[in-house]
Amino acid sequence: MSISRAIAEQMERSSWIRRMFEIGIQMRRERGAENVFDFSLGNPDVEPPGAVIDALRHVAARNSPRSHGYMPNAGFPEVRSVIARRLAARTELPFTGDDLIMTNGAAGAINTVLKALLDPGDEVIVLNPYFPEYRFYIENHGGRAVAVETTARFQPDVARIARAMTARTKAIILNSPNNPTGAVYSAEILRELDTVVRDPVIAICDEPYRPIVFDGIVPPETLSIVRRSVLAWSWSKAMAIAGERIGYLAIPPQLPEAAALRNACTFANRILGYINAPAIWQWVVAEVPDVTVDVSQYQAKRDLLCDALTAMGYEAPRPQGSYYVFPKTPIPDDVAFIGMLQSEGILAVPGSGFGRPGYMRLSLTIPRPDIERSLAGFGRAIHAVQLQPVSA
Ligand code: PLP
Repeated sequence: MSISRAIAEQMERSSWIRRMFEIGIQMRRERGAENVFDFSLGNPDVEPPGAVIDALRHVAARNSPRSHGYMPNAGFPEVRSVIARRLAARTELPFTGDDLIMTNGAAGAINTVLKALLDPGDEVIVLNPYFPEYRFYIENHGGRAVAVETTARFQPDVARIARAMTARTKAIILNSPNNPTGAVYSAEILRELDTVVRDPVIAICDEPYRPIVFDGIVPPETLSIVRRSVLAWSWSKAMAIAGERIGYLAIPPQLPEAAALRNACTFANRILGYINAPAIWQWVVAEVPDVTVDVSQYQAKRDLLCDALTAMGYEAPRPQGSYYVFPKTPIPDDVAFIGMLQSEGILAVPGSGFGRPGYMRLSLTIPRPDIERSLAGFGRAIHAVQLQPVSA
């Protein structure tokens, strides 16, 4: 058997999430599944909304001819028109179905546009801390990820971004609401960002968490504010259907290179082997495009967890959106602290896995009773740290 050196190296570097998964299996075996509190995965513990399953039944029962075959590579034209109308109303940009390519989730959309944009050695800016898959997506297409630190509140630091741009910079990935920090980028900072995202740079707005926001926040429309931007969207989180792999890439028609980029992305989506986005799910999302899961349950879990951790002495601000809480670890060595949590049966991902040591990511997709039962362990772990003598 021969595995490429590149993939072997990438597997080695992706080891944090993988390691947590393996540790989780081991811990369940040793302690029993009911004594393991898994905050490591962003996989919803809720079922898709009833309206989504009804639409799925309806589409299957209708069984229109040619519903299951190949289609134009960008997706069914009728579906793209429906979605484009919603997007145009939301962003006040003149989208039509021609500007959308249905993709295999947001991940498919990001890989598609990176494939279309990058030449070997081109650079893509990612904002630290960041979703670790970005680095691999960028490297898949010969690019190089350039990590730029965010501000203390995890907002884009526009001056730093401007300084990091070079003649090789082709794109910047913006992710709001953010994984892992839960930050929602402010309109003011996006307006500043608009002044530095200049031809040929494209902002790739990765927004699968857009509907997962709390306290009535409406995230600013990145697409409308940052003029040189494209949207990578999926219904994975909105409808809790991540396994169905349905999303789209939207290329605003006013971009000077829109037509060329659209053609390149349509071709890239095909030759990456995606060919089409899942046919049945295209029809389903066209029937109920705006249905979302009940976000109040995530908000209630956020409040429970952040309030309890804060009362114990953790620095755990409430995130504005996404699935994640991103507290500071009470000692700078996040990996060591994650080890202490493991001895309490708690699985979390160290901030180091996202490029930001000294933090940890806790997922709100864990069932509420598990959060409640895990709190004593979080308490014991910080207490143990507080009892340790401070070294000079
Ligand atoms: N972007 C971010 C920030 C994510 O967290 C994820 C998945 O967790 C994705 C993209 C991929 O989304 P999808 O599963 O819809 O492809």
